[in-house]
Amino acid sequence: MVYFVGAGPGAADLLTLRGKKYLEQADLIIYAGSLVNPELLDYAGADCEILNSAYMNLEQVIHAIEQAEKEGKNTVRLHTGDPSLYGAIREQMVQLEKLGISYEVCPGVSSFCGAAASLNLEYTLPDVSQSVIITRTEGRTAVPESEQLSSLAAHQATMVLFLSAGLAKKTRQELLDGGYPPDTPVAVVYKATWPEEKIIRTTLAHMEEDMEQADILKTALIIVGRVLDSDFSLSRLYDKHFSTGFREGRL
Ligand code: SAH
Repeated sequence: MVYFVGAGPGAADLLTLRGKKYLEQADLIIYAGSLVNPELLDYAGADCEILNSAYMNLEQVIHAIEQAEKEGKNTVRLHTGDPSLYGAIREQMVQLEKLGISYEVCPGVSSFCGAAASLNLEYTLPDVSQSVIITRTEGRTAVPESEQLSSLAAHQATMVLFLSAGLAKKTRQELLDGGYPPDTPVAVVYKATWPEEKIIRTTLAHMEEDMEQADILKTALIIVGRVLDSDFSLSRLYDKHFSTGFREGRL
């Protein structure tokens, strides 16, 4: 059996209880060494074999899992944040299905949630933005034409950019071209929830130089939108005049 486990954004105690149980029971752990906090490996049993997938290609990962399966072992494939975002898990699942190997996914706290917590941020403020666009700037990995940053920018919704810290100049330009005003607030969170976390609060106009000054080139999220500094309306949910399934509104 293979468990794809979300490791959370960094801090070791942001792993789920279920993820911890799977790590404790694993015979083999293949972890994404470039981003997963190695402290999580302390949950592994003494006899557990541990491989770092940063040094492996897809074929090697699948081969290691296949060998473990033949020996009746449990494998944990440990991915950073939540595995469903930029986790390259589908390509593994397809191979496992071909080999008749069963698997299950255990979700994790994505780094975009870790970053919001570090910023005391609510991505969805009434009357400011009710949508979050999760995307990336095109680099070596292509982004479909219909999802180019400049066209997504037209919505002026809250935007969270993964995998784009090394492309600050291009990111800034495409967001400006797409119509975000230059004074749109931007926050950059480097290694959210890790001890070495860094936060920059800036604007679209200044993000490139501020990121350069702080030496942030990777392992960061770029968060863009008025939710970072806006006045907003109070929610309907807790409005004393508003009835919900649990509470009668008062006049
Ligand atoms: N599945 C992961 C994302 C993997 S892609 C998740 O849900 O978070 C890797 C990218 O995620 C990095 O380039 C960076 O943009 C972002 N990232 C991962 N961990 C991060 C963290 N602790 N702080 C800020 N960004 C992080």
